[in-house]
Amino acid sequence: PVPGSRSASLFQRARRVFPDGTSRVTIERNPTPRYIAGGEGPYLTDADGARFLDLNANFTTLIHGHAFAPVISAVERQLRSGSCFASPTEAEIALGTLLCERVPRLERIRFVNTGTEAVMFAIKAARAFTGRSAIAKIEGAYHGAYDWVEVAQASSPDNWGRADAPASVPYYRGMPASVLDETIVLRLNDADGAIKLLERNAHRLATIVIDPMPSRAGLVTPEPAFISALQETARSLGVLIVCDEVLNFRQGYHGAASRCGLEPDLFALGKIIGGGFPIGAVGGRADVMAVFDAGHGRPLLPQGGTFSANPISMVAGCAAMEALDQAAFARLDELGATLRAELEGAITRSGAPFSVTGAASLFRIHPKPSPPKEFREACWNTMEAQTMGSMSRFFLRHGIILPDAAACLSTPMGAAEIDKIVRVFEAFLAELNGRNSD
Ligand code: PMP
Repeated sequence: PVPGSRSASLFQRARRVFPDGTSRVTIERNPTPRYIAGGEGPYLTDADGARFLDLNANFTTLIHGHAFAPVISAVERQLRSGSCFASPTEAEIALGTLLCERVPRLERIRFVNTGTEAVMFAIKAARAFTGRSAIAKIEGAYHGAYDWVEVAQASSPDNWGRADAPASVPYYRGMPASVLDETIVLRLNDADGAIKLLERNAHRLATIVIDPMPSRAGLVTPEPAFISALQETARSLGVLIVCDEVLNFRQGYHGAASRCGLEPDLFALGKIIGGGFPIGAVGGRADVMAVFDAGHGRPLLPQGGTFSANPISMVAGCAAMEALDQAAFARLDELGATLRAELEGAITRSGAPFSVTGAASLFRIHPKPSPPKEFREACWNTMEAQTMGSMSRFFLRHGIILPDAAACLSTPMGAAEIDKIVRVFEAFLAELNGRNSD
């Protein structure tokens, strides 16, 4: 948005009340944030009337795009009879049942309000079950705002530590030293390194938190050998596996873990399961989830939340998830595979040093000649960051919002949208080649 635009004048007002003019560090500024007037299906319209194909979809949440009719009618109906109560409603049973029926090993579930809370309660549940407090997580992976999983996200070549012992890099000034000490950092796809670190810390580890395709660590597919090494080591050491599927649950009808052969003890879910409303869920093995059981007095892990399982999020989630049947996932898979193959074709034809990662409806373009295998390989140097900045501005000028870490497709998209993305990428590569030969 340019000076004088409606977005720019809204931002001026916003800066008087928010420390940086926004409520989320993830908001893009170019140079001011783009304020949104509304969305419809896969498209967004900003406050100045410009229209965009939305590959962000509120950070991959809106798998049916904006203003999905079944969600609107379910929420409208629910709103007329109240938005939240201090007692349960039938709506939560419907969504809980749907999820437990679809996901192997998801035997019991509890709803919360965000992915952050889902991950937090999964970690606390693992602690309550094992009686241990430390966790292991993947370098560079994002899991929300619970301190332990915030460790090792501000890593850069200056501080990321040895390859076989990644540093527990703090995320913010004043982060407790005890948190850093209690967080073991593993590198994605480094099975030998992970086994050594897990064995060395086994006595104090409650859980390994893993997102099967961590977006900020590169949206990289985990290697089967890495998954089975984690699985076997965790089992033999009595350490639980928490699978954070907040983002990657959109990979399939049965979720992401079953897709990559992971057998988690606990899951953290969020985003798509709320149909566009705030949600999170923690679930998994019935014996582990029993730490929440308050049926016979105080549980090992008391868990509440004013808006947990509120009926608006529950009915919206049901409407969205019911529309996501096996056929809908198969169609998204095919669209995603076609798109990634066509982007790769464009790269090969142009000879430019790019690569593509992702799965199902997710993709990420890297300014690297071969696809990265883990966080450190996926990090950008200054020149690569400039290239990616100019790519995202190029896409915006051509009417597409392309996020850096995880771009996604949605069910209202089809061949026309895939074609548009590929054509804009080809034009960008042509411009880049032209620039480089000047
Ligand atoms: N885990 C993962 C993998 C995520 O992608 C996110 C959100 N981007 C979260 C946890 C946190 O979810 P929320 O923003 O709903 O708190």
